[in-house]
Amino acid sequence: MIRCAFTTVQLHTEIDAVSPTWRVRALRRTEALKNGTQRRITSMWSETKPAFMKLQGPKCPFCEKWLEDQAIEQDVEHFRPKNNVKRWRVPSALSGHGITLSQPATGSEPGYRLLAYHPENYAAACKTCNSVLKRDYFPIGGVRNSAADNVGSCRDEKAYLIFPLGTRDDDPEKLIEFHGLSPQPTKSRGFKRKRALVTIDFFKLDDLDQRKGLIRERASKLEHLYFALKERDSPNSTQMEVNQAQQAITNLTKPTASHVNCLRSFQRLWEMRNAEARQLYEAIAAYLSSGSD
Ligand SMILES: [Zn+2]
Repeated sequence: MIRCAFTTVQLHTEIDAVSPTWRVRALRRTEALKNGTQRRITSMWSETKPAFMKLQGPKCPFCEKWLEDQAIEQDVEHFRPKNNVKRWRVPSALSGHGITLSQPATGSEPGYRLLAYHPENYAAACKTCNSVLKRDYFPIGGVRNSAADNVGSCRDEKAYLIFPLGTRDDDPEKLIEFHGLSPQPTKSRGFKRKRALVTIDFFKLDDLDQRKGLIRERASKLEHLYFALKERDSPNSTQMEVNQAQQAITNLTKPTASHVNCLRSFQRLWEMRNAEARQLYEAIAAYLSSGSD
């Protein structure tokens, strides 16, 4: 996960380019929900999908998987659920980390109805992250503000999931980094460490059973980066080879490319502890050639 750093103005510009009337209609519907003249939340967010696909690369902002430019591959999702928030249980893998939840003992909670038409509450995500994993969960440690009509007023909720779009939330790369193929929290303690732990587990970013394809894709990208770094730094490379390798490294690690947090983490290791990076690559090469997960 890395930040997709666009401004609110850029987001509005892209949505206006897709549909000049969308934002006005969205505001009207939010007003109607507020004053009670509309009860049902009917879909109009799919119309904004091309704007998010453009801003996001297009890749899934949660797992960094490349999104095919076809409707079946991705959804526009509400980060904060619009109808109901389902009860979430701390997974056993995270017990002992002091993750406390603010939620009723039973049943679900009201969702964030007034954020249903708020584009800063949207992301185009892959089917696994959105439909299989995210669903209507939104674990928090603070006080739920389900009456919020803008995402800025939800700060005190202490959301465990990191939102990677825009610049309102923590920068995911400051909370999560990779050791080889494995995502890890960067902080040794505190709430930000808990956010990283929950986000990694929630989206199964390190799960070889549930996310085989994702982790293989990540490994394959890392292998490309490894050979480009090797070529760039080899004393036997010609100037042209060095330039081409550097171009490949730049392309692989630009913000909108896939699996960038993993690749940037590996590049940092390569620059700082080269022998360790080379050793780590041996294990990744063995994983890739094994043909099993
Ligand atoms: Zn995803």
